[in-house]
Amino acid sequence: MEYHGLLTRYGALLDLPEHTQTVSLHEGNTPLIPVPRLAEEMGGGFELFVKYEGLNPTGSFKDRGMTAAIGEAAGRKAQAVICASTGNTAASAAAYAARAGLRAIVLIPQGKVAAGKLAGAVAYGAQVVQIDGSFDDALTLVVKITEKHPIALVNSINPYRLEGQKTGAFEICDTLGKAPDWLCLPVGNAGNISAYWLGFRQYNEEKSTGLPKLLGVQAAGAAPLVLGHPIDKPSTVATAIRIGRPARGEQALTAAEESGGRIIAATDDEILAMQRRLAGEGIWVEPASAAGLAGLEKEINAGTLDPTGKQIVAVCTGHGLKDPDIITANMPKPELVPTSLEALEEVILAQ
Ligand SMILES: *Cc1c(COP(=O)(O)O)cnc(C)c1O
Repeated sequence: MEYHGLLTRYGALLDLPEHTQTVSLHEGNTPLIPVPRLAEEMGGGFELFVKYEGLNPTGSFKDRGMTAAIGEAAGRKAQAVICASTGNTAASAAAYAARAGLRAIVLIPQGKVAAGKLAGAVAYGAQVVQIDGSFDDALTLVVKITEKHPIALVNSINPYRLEGQKTGAFEICDTLGKAPDWLCLPVGNAGNISAYWLGFRQYNEEKSTGLPKLLGVQAAGAAPLVLGHPIDKPSTVATAIRIGRPARGEQALTAAEESGGRIIAATDDEILAMQRRLAGEGIWVEPASAAGLAGLEKEINAGTLDPTGKQIVAVCTGHGLKDPDIITANMPKPELVPTSLEALEEVILAQ
């Protein structure tokens, strides 16, 4: 059957208002890629899969929630949508607003937005406003402005975002035939882990697919849910999870606990090392997306998670192309050789 996007495939399972329109770029339906070599390097004896969300239309999982949130906003004749964003929400909101013919305004924190994300928001025609503050400050502002003006808020405090993002859990169960034993994923504003838990619970009630344990992973410099208090100046190279006051923090902690899992932190070095190893498997993700697997390896090494005989899925949330600078900043300049066979032989055979 031809694929027409998430609302067509899973709309009946999502709690969306009657007036919701289908605004789709054929998001979702992302591959669940087995990574046996990586599993072997982590000690082996289990099955490991990457849910590669970087293959969504704007390069991140945000499109799952945006098809629902923008579809709802368009259906009630909103004229404009707004969001605060570390980048991927902005690009996604801009694309789906463009698709629906709505105006999009995105607020980004000063400085720390990866090049590919900002370029996306601009390319799709959003009005990009940078504020002299953090993501958390930007979110506070968009909440205030949407209380005052008829502009639809499409951050993940919008419940329809989470409805759309439940489809990640549905797809994993549909592919594996059941829920995995563990699901590991990065945690920033904590909407995605909350949505996955809603999705797995719903599928289990309707189709007895079982429930995974959730391993949420924050960056060590932006780990309010691990430390138990907000962080005023979160800091990490994983800009997508550089968030000090997660809007869905309580819900995420409850989800992790109910599942029998937990939320932990991984350092920037661990995250970047895992980004390189994934790229070594042919899967290039942006730094935040490697956090789930970095956390998994940590738990396995510490002996606090026994993977033996288990099926484990890591959600890799965004494409590596979103943040090219993290790679090119430390890249040695490509070697320049004369255009001759001898010179070429010399440089490649010398290795
Ligand atoms: C948004 C985002 C996250 C964090 O998701 P939350 O729902 O905010 O926890 C992680 N990785 C990437 C690539 C993202 O865009």
